[in-house]
Amino acid sequence: MDERILIVEDDPLTADGVAFALREEGFEVDVTADGSSALERARAGRPDLVVLDIGLPGGVSGMDVCRELRGESAVPILVLSARASEVDKVLGFERGADDYVTKPFSLVEVVARVRALLRGRALARAGDGSMVREVGGLRIDLARHEVTVEGGRVHTTPSEFRLLALLAERAEETVSRSELCTRLWRTDSSLDTRACDLHVARL
Ligand code: CA
Repeated sequence: MDERILIVEDDPLTADGVAFALREEGFEVDVTADGSSALERARAGRPDLVVLDIGLPGGVSGMDVCRELRGESAVPILVLSARASEVDKVLGFERGADDYVTKPFSLVEVVARVRALLRGRALARAGDGSMVREVGGLRIDLARHEVTVEGGRVHTTPSEFRLLALLAERAEETVSRSELCTRLWRTDSSLDTRACDLHVARL
């Protein structure tokens, strides 16, 4: 079945461009222009990924949508932001976006990041066959997407979870930043690595 992507973007030109590029890649695409209908559609349609503009008009902002969605599901969220200063906030613990692109962006870049996020999700699901990883007091349950430290449950965003799972799998090794970025976020490690750095810093 085709993977389904919800695009939340109030600028029709941007929405059309991103929708076109993703449909060309074989994704099933739904588009909405405001925050409250975005939440409704995400709940009803259970998309595989959400592309979310942060600058939305009306009462429900892109930040609100991000926080609400993250509170209720592990769906990967790729944020479209006009301002670099918004990025730290939206990638933050509370809101939990997985990656971002700043406007103006190329459609090729958006497609690459969508693919990377969907691959990362598949990686977290598949793991190496065993469903629980334990390192010291840290226990990662890959099936249930749960992290506990000394028995206490720790909240992680989907990106933090994938990062932690990868590091735990390779606990005795040094994992390079470019490998983390390539495996978890990007197809090309030469793209900027800020999302990776921020996630590592928070962990
Ligand atoms: Ca906008």
